[in-house]
Amino acid sequence: MYRHRSSLGDLLRHIHVSGALSRAALGERMGVNRSTILGWTTELVGAGLVREEHPAGTTGAGRPSLVVRPESERVWVLAFDVAVDRLVAARVGLGGRILERRETARPRAGVDLDMVVRKLATMGRELIDPGSLCVGVGASYCGMIRPGDGMVRYGPEMGWVDQAFGAELSRALGIGLPVAVGNEAHLGALAEYQRGAGVGHPDLIYLHGDVGVGGGILVNGKLLGGESGYGCEVGHMLVNPVDGRPCLCGSRGCLEAETGEYALLAAAGRATPPPGQATPQVGRDAVSLRRAMPQFGREAVRAVARDALSGDPVAAAAVAEIGDWLGIGVANLINLFNPGVVIFGGMLRDVHAAAAPQVAARIAQHAMPVSRERAKLRLSALADDATLIGAADLGFTTLLADPLRAATVAPATAARAS
Ligand SMILES: [Zn+2]
Repeated sequence: MYRHRSSLGDLLRHIHVSGALSRAALGERMGVNRSTILGWTTELVGAGLVREEHPAGTTGAGRPSLVVRPESERVWVLAFDVAVDRLVAARVGLGGRILERRETARPRAGVDLDMVVRKLATMGRELIDPGSLCVGVGASYCGMIRPGDGMVRYGPEMGWVDQAFGAELSRALGIGLPVAVGNEAHLGALAEYQRGAGVGHPDLIYLHGDVGVGGGILVNGKLLGGESGYGCEVGHMLVNPVDGRPCLCGSRGCLEAETGEYALLAAAGRATPPPGQATPQVGRDAVSLRRAMPQFGREAVRAVARDALSGDPVAAAAVAEIGDWLGIGVANLINLFNPGVVIFGGMLRDVHAAAAPQVAARIAQHAMPVSRERAKLRLSALADDATLIGAADLGFTTLLADPLRAATVAPATAARAS
């Protein structure tokens, strides 16, 4: 029985990740014959999870293999993203398609658990589609998350310590489903591996930049969680012990202190307050400046990268400086993990696009040739949605583990909040 559930889950996972596939292709992928696939797809069709169609453009002789498609509009999850500068909620269909979304900017300072949960729950309830099937809820959070219960153990940028985020969001949503929570860079790594720039590369490193730098490292397709699930904190790898900038973690010269948003804007001479506000007397103190200057964000970073590419010498020098530190960090990671691909996500997507020569030069200088010879450097293909898609995949976990059970016990979704 367990084996059967797991086979149905495997089949549905192929459809979820790859989209529509013919029965013949499914049989080939799963190593089973046509009649076995027919039996399994019939069960999934009966549960309303997939549908079968004749392939387009086939007529006449022969019996073309039916195409199996996910019921994306009918079967979906709620996905949330708590990023440093925005809150996002989306209804994501089976197959990974974003069906509808809500987004709001969030202030950098003074955001407590109640405020974040209230805003997310309101946006989430607006997305509920009556009459269809919500099979899970997943959330991405920019901090360290306890596996299993969605407790934020440490959210440095928001100052959260041991906040029961998953449980509170589940309660506020009130649709009878738990909220699975993951670290944003971990989820981004898995999403890029499944459907982005890391497809086909089970040994993968994903770097997610914003205020800090998060990391997700896959070893043979599995996330390197560490003893307690808090692994891959590559942002706090020491790259500049001599003259390093202060870091939110209390140390100095960490990768994220040298390559994060503040470092780039300060190097570009753009770490200035908005009109009418005094310049904080913080010198190189990234910690207090980050909290004092809520107007920073991905647009400010993108503007520096854009200006660097179009020849602004100050912006170009800033990007080169940050690219140098980034390259040192990546060289260390390549020596340690021998990845097939290193993916730059979040703000680092923009930084790397402008600083690729510096990053490549540092890797050539510091990573061992045999470790780096097959390592590809790529920009995130899912871009700003990598973490959201990763959160959605977390929400689909229960369905993919036991499709028929999840499809029958999923709660009736309430009407949209008015
Ligand atoms: Zn640090």
